[in-house]
Amino acid sequence: MEFKVSGDACKDAYWFLFCNDELLVAENAGFINTPWICGSKMPNFTPAGVQYIGSLDGHQCYVAKLGSKNVPAGFTFKELRQLYGQVADEYFWFAARAFHIMHWLRNNEFCGRCGSGMQASAEELAVECAHCRQIVYPRISPAVIVAVIREDKILLARSARFPAVYSVIAGFVEPGETFEDCINRELQEEVGITVTNIKYFGNQPWPFPDSLMVAFTAQYAQGNITIDNKEIIEAGWFSARELPSIPPKVSIARQLIDWFAKLKKPQ
Ligand SMILES: [Zn+2]
Repeated sequence: MEFKVSGDACKDAYWFLFCNDELLVAENAGFINTPWICGSKMPNFTPAGVQYIGSLDGHQCYVAKLGSKNVPAGFTFKELRQLYGQVADEYFWFAARAFHIMHWLRNNEFCGRCGSGMQASAEELAVECAHCRQIVYPRISPAVIVAVIREDKILLARSARFPAVYSVIAGFVEPGETFEDCINRELQEEVGITVTNIKYFGNQPWPFPDSLMVAFTAQYAQGNITIDNKEIIEAGWFSARELPSIPPKVSIARQLIDWFAKLKKPQ
């Protein structure tokens, strides 16, 4: 999966270089200029696993890994989520694409069917087994996320994974399920309620590591909140004036909660 970087492909390229899941950025007096490096100014890095990931503003873009965090002055590493709001949205989401692809490549260095090494496809964003020719595309895992409204309140829950914030219910779609099936199953399993009037709200790629979040709103139908005490450790109904600690603005979870707050807050 090595890619020789030379000539013009290198000259004006944007680079998304990761080390241990953190992105290399240029930083000047605490101000982050860009989440990438132009090839023409690129210091003497030796990126590994280089993959072309498309173009942005007419510049060729590549993702690659760095083996060390030993970088020159003026550069630093940042967690991707820390960059939201510090760089333009289109660059943040392109970096998110790079992060997703980097993870996928790392998990597919060898063929899952025969164990041979995988090679990057010359024609499309895929890797192919040199031995059995299996082709593997980047994995995208759809997940639903749903704001359940009961009169002037919203259902929010704390999960064991992120106990500091309350959020709307989310879960991965299983084989054979529609989005609606998944919403009904997740709500039954995690909080023991049923809903009606499920409506599409929006969607958002969420590359941590490979989700596509598909957001919905729904109305409470019946059932008392009964948490599973595994994934969910606390759940309740909250009014717009009594919202607890909620997720950061980058997430579609927050967009759902903000939508509710705007809808229900007394003028
Ligand atoms: Zn194979």
